[in-house]
Amino acid sequence: MSAEENFCTMLVKRLSGLDYFPQTKEAALELTNTLMRAKNNREACEVVDEWLDSTREAPKPCDVLRILWARRREEEGLKYLGDPDCPDCQGSGYRIRTVNGVDGAERCECTAKGVSP
Ligand SMILES: [Zn+2]
Repeated sequence: MSAEENFCTMLVKRLSGLDYFPQTKEAALELTNTLMRAKNNREACEVVDEWLDSTREAPKPCDVLRILWARRREEEGLKYLGDPDCPDCQGSGYRIRTVNGVDGAERCECTAKGVSP
């Protein structure tokens, strides 16, 4: 699943008031295509909101990609965190297990459930 073309075209128009917005249709289309690499319309919209809130100049396709990559990395990280209410790991994602008198850390079962932000 990815973001829809019509939706991304509309999002790119929202960026058109920013400085250095692409002057050619082709360059604007590149931005649309890059936004379509978002997981869905909602993520594409969040990327544009974030950009509009923080930056005066229009993004280049590589800026959009960088934001999308950062979001993927963040999601990967969240998978490894445990449930904050877990009695075994208190949310660290790891619990201590003693085998033959030696303490070791193992991944807590609660991490398999995944935690949403
Ligand atoms: Zn746990």
